[in-house]
Amino acid sequence: MRITVDTGRCVGAGQCVLTAPDLFDQDDDGLVTVLDPTAGVSAGAAREAAALCPSGAISVAAD
Ligand code: SF4
Repeated sequence: MRITVDTGRCVGAGQCVLTAPDLFDQDDDGLVTVLDPTAGVSAGAAREAAALCPSGAISVAAD
């Protein structure tokens, strides 16, 4: 699973952190950061976070 985020699109809504706190965090400006994308977190959680992101900033691709 490969997770990429576009911080230029992120509006800091925080839905990704609420949905998948093992995968996402927010920096001091509220912009999304990806925690270890190889940590074995379920692809379902990542895809759910991508679907809920209001700005479409998260992309999830299979390896
Ligand atoms: S849900 Fe989307 S807009 Fe909100 S912090 Fe996460 S990546 Fe940014």
